[in-house]
Amino acid sequence: MVLLATMASGCNSTAKSAAETEQRPIIVQGPMPIEAEKFAEKLSDMEIEESGNFIFYKGTIDDYPVIVTKTSKGMENTAAATALAIEKYDPIAIINQGTSGGHDPDLHVFDIVLGKKTVNIGSIKTESAEENEGMDPSLWKPMDLMASEGSAGEDPDAEKIRYYEGDKELLAAANAVKDQYDQGKVVEGTIGSADLWNNEVDRINWFHEKYGTSVEEMEGAAAAQISDSYGVPFLGIRILSNNKTNDGQYNPDTAAANQEYVHHVLKEYISNLK
Ligand code: SAH
Repeated sequence: MVLLATMASGCNSTAKSAAETEQRPIIVQGPMPIEAEKFAEKLSDMEIEESGNFIFYKGTIDDYPVIVTKTSKGMENTAAATALAIEKYDPIAIINQGTSGGHDPDLHVFDIVLGKKTVNIGSIKTESAEENEGMDPSLWKPMDLMASEGSAGEDPDAEKIRYYEGDKELLAAANAVKDQYDQGKVVEGTIGSADLWNNEVDRINWFHEKYGTSVEEMEGAAAAQISDSYGVPFLGIRILSNNKTNDGQYNPDTAAANQEYVHHVLKEYISNLK
């Protein structure tokens, strides 16, 4: 009897480890080659799969499957790359990472923002004005395209800001390794996204005050929105490569520094999964 029981439990554990070989991958997205390739180099047993503009670098970190995606820049590329990755690979979590421009004067080039919230800052409804009455961006209102299936232009309920919350477990893993980053500080904040590069400081301050944005970039909210619609845990992690509010000049070396940090985050998250 004892022998049979031991054999049965032995069988059980073999069955379990077979199931474990079908682990759901973690997706790490970067828009530009400099924001994805450094991370891809860290993968073991790496294979490349291409689709449209997207490059999927499939491999492992600490024996756990990880797929790095070069999404290309902007909201459309990122939304499509996210939906495709979810349908193709059934990920357990998605991290969207890369460079960004500061909206908060207390943040400097090489500081990192963990997206406790991510928001689309390009989804906007203008005030009503007749011909020759001009344009006034300071009166523009947020427009939530996910508020209803009806017309956002007519729907007063759509005049609100929609925030996507960063996943708690991903945030916890990111916070747990912040001391391993020594090129700047790591803070929780709000990531604003649009196909837009703001260089007017008054406009930047307007977003900072109205939306609470810490940084702006061109992808995070697109990935957050699609992840949310499929129920996939999501986190944006953005390093400042520039900050117009405090004369922080663009530095492309920040892209590699962020990937180093995100690598630590991933190892921490994977160790928690195991
Ligand atoms: N200076 C680079 C710009 C790249 S385009 C060049 O000339 O090639 C912008 C990319 O960098 C996007 O993927 C976006 O996510 C990120 N980014 C960095 N800083 C930004 C800012 N201030 N505003 C918008 N996007 C920014």
